Amino acid sequence: MFKQSKWPKTLIFEKSTNGRQGFQVPKLSALENSLLEKAKKSLPKNLLREKSPNLPEATELEVVRHFTRLSQMNYGVDTGFYPLGSCTMKYNPKVCDAAASIPNALNVHPYQPEESIQGNLQIMYELSNWLAELSGMSGVTLQPAAGAHGEYTGIMILRKYHETQNNQPKKSEIIVPDSAHGTNPATVSMCGFKTIVIPSDNEGCVNIEALKASVTEKTAGMMLTNPNTLGIFEPNIKEITKIIHEVDGLMYYDGANFNAIMGKVRPGDMGFDIVHFNLHKTFATPHGGGGPGAGPVGVISRLIPFLPVPTVAYNSMDNAYYFDYEHSQTIGKVRSYYGNFSTLLRAYTYILRLGQSGLTRVSEMANLNANYMKTQCGKIEGFKVPYGEKSSCMHEFVLSARKICKETGISALDISKYILDHGLHPPTVYFPLIVPEAMMIEPTETESKEVIDDFIDVLREVSNLAYSNKSDRIQKAPTNTSVGRIDDVKAAREPIISYRMLKELQEQ
Ligand SMILES: *Cc1c(COP(=O)(O)O)cnc(C)c1O
Repeated sequence: MFKQSKWPKTLIFEKSTNGRQGFQVPKLSALENSLLEKAKKSLPKNLLREKSPNLPEATELEVVRHFTRLSQMNYGVDTGFYPLGSCTMKYNPKVCDAAASIPNALNVHPYQPEESIQGNLQIMYELSNWLAELSGMSGVTLQPAAGAHGEYTGIMILRKYHETQNNQPKKSEIIVPDSAHGTNPATVSMCGFKTIVIPSDNEGCVNIEALKASVTEKTAGMMLTNPNTLGIFEPNIKEITKIIHEVDGLMYYDGANFNAIMGKVRPGDMGFDIVHFNLHKTFATPHGGGGPGAGPVGVISRLIPFLPVPTVAYNSMDNAYYFDYEHSQTIGKVRSYYGNFSTLLRAYTYILRLGQSGLTRVSEMANLNANYMKTQCGKIEGFKVPYGEKSSCMHEFVLSARKICKETGISALDISKYILDHGLHPPTVYFPLIVPEAMMIEPTETESKEVIDDFIDVLREVSNLAYSNKSDRIQKAPTNTSVGRIDDVKAAREPIISYRMLKELQEQ
């Protein structure tokens, strides 16, 4: 049976003992010392530290044990199933990490002359081309550092486009379906537009009548995920893009979940104008801890002049790659230097290793796994697939625990905690908002049938317990994990993220 390690919750600061050392900093030479003194003099006074930082003092062994124990109390893709819908928490091949650790990738400086980093530039150039090919776009920027950052970049491009068309300030609204990822409406506001939310129809797709009713001269564009967050592919996508284009709006494709469609269909062919990718979801960078990531953005040829600078270009006369700053209407830079190079390198390695047929198979397996799970989970007493029950889904699906909750009092949250006790990570819950007691499940392409069956068995167990008056066993969970039920609202609203904050709180 699964049982997670439990170690005393002592912070490394609390283990500190005066004078203990794990590392000896070499003494500075006379030259280094004089340089240091000079640097200190040239720095503004208010930036100089008066006393040394309060760092814990511990031996190497104490540090190694401390962090190894923490890792044993943790959970990740390398330890078990992680079907967190929309997040694509899949296994990422270690070869991609190895590629990202080669010295030529790690030890380059962003100000190095172009001729000394031709290989790196070639990788960025080819990756941009491959992403353009996969999405049906014509130009790509690799700068954005996350999906939400890509959205911001894309909508700023949309904004600048309308400015140059003399459409502003008329174009003030962006349409977003009610099933959208929360970052979409947030991006719309960040970029100075108003979000117009439209409802989904009975199939979970864009309600065409509601869309037509919302589109006006003010419509600057629409942000859409396809397949949407219910895991359903919009059958009317061509009509949707046509409706928006008719008022000179642009179509934005939220491509965070590209593992649903690779090699099968391209946003460009569906009529989209701007696309972002999450390299840290589909393209082999592990994520979940807050970065680093990459959210490249692709655009149709008409929008290339608006891309952030620089992009990487190739001059065939000199057979040389170079940074291209010639984007006449660029929105400017959205990140220092050129993006998270190690994340780009992982994506490059992943695409290179898999090739076209491999990437296509990734999407086929992602969809097959999700459909198998959807069919099995939908049959369990108390659960229902509210959208797309009869049709097939793409890489994910949403299960509703409303029936079991109404009939036995067991909520999606209780079920999640019970799942944890079996060494599995629960799905995304209570999202999308349009499904009551939602459990959004994405098995990803990397899981085997045995692992998926384990998860389905746990849901069956939940149903059996709940319907035989043994709900208390579920409500007590988790008991096998290193921490029990935590106050997640408090953790989100009042996070204590440094030892200094903790100390200050304790002294109050
Ligand atoms: C993850 C995700 C995003 C945001 O990506 P981040 O890298 O977390 O900013 C946007 N849209 C969808 C559909 C997503 O799944």
